[in-house]
Amino acid sequence: MEVAKELKAARETLARAYTDRRSQLEAGPSAEDDGHDPIGVALLAGSRPRGGRHPIQELISEAVQHFATLGFSLHESSQLEDIEHSFDLLAVPPDHPTRSPAHTFYAEDDIVLRSHTTSSVLRVLARESTNRSQRFVVVGACHRNTVPNARFTTQFHQMEVVASDPWLRMSDVKGLAVTFAAAVLGHDADVRVRYKAFPYVLPGLAVDVSCSACDVQGCGLCRGTGYLEIMSGGMLTSGTLAAAGRPPETRAMALAISLERILCARHALDDIRHFLQNDLRVLSQFY
Ligand SMILES: [Zn+2]
Repeated sequence: MEVAKELKAARETLARAYTDRRSQLEAGPSAEDDGHDPIGVALLAGSRPRGGRHPIQELISEAVQHFATLGFSLHESSQLEDIEHSFDLLAVPPDHPTRSPAHTFYAEDDIVLRSHTTSSVLRVLARESTNRSQRFVVVGACHRNTVPNARFTTQFHQMEVVASDPWLRMSDVKGLAVTFAAAVLGHDADVRVRYKAFPYVLPGLAVDVSCSACDVQGCGLCRGTGYLEIMSGGMLTSGTLAAAGRPPETRAMALAISLERILCARHALDDIRHFLQNDLRVLSQFY
């Protein structure tokens, strides 16, 4: 009984204190109040803008999740890469313009800021050379020494999709590319696949999507063609696989995805520089 009495008294004390304080706040500042209440609980809170993740990070999460459902795991990679993995092992000719400092940023004589995520492919393939069946993705920023325009910026993001399996063939590369395009751009996206040569794949392909910024009329982003290249890759050559320590009968593929261009196609933006400029009038549209 004693406990019940004390609890009742405590409840009445707390209820009285709550009622008194509430009346005091609703009445506003008192005459004794000097107007410099450091807490200012009677003031209305100002609204603060809500932030959100950058659209590139959102797309990366979406893409990693898409490929995870197909059995691809995410591998870490470095933005600093040696020229051996950037060019030599990918059979890029010694006089190819992409090796020039006018195209690629050199940190040291033989170390560059990677100009594509394909430079990570052989590292991961070589790391697990005993495992003939592999599926992994590498994603992150790449860098090119270019004058920024609607199509190219000094920094952009790529995802590299890589698989090795004895039964892999070119139709699998095409299937992965078309399926991913449908997942991120919608099943009615106007996507086309065409042959394209790269030194480290044979055969190679590129995937284009119709330019939504100009409605296929031609603009700076699509370079007047009405189509925007969003992916490229193919079956890795036996020479490239040998560089990764793989036996010649290995079959492996690589597919590089240009993430900024996918976002441009998805949101009908006409310039990939929007994703580097941190203009909240643009970015706030995405969250
Ligand atoms: Zn266009």
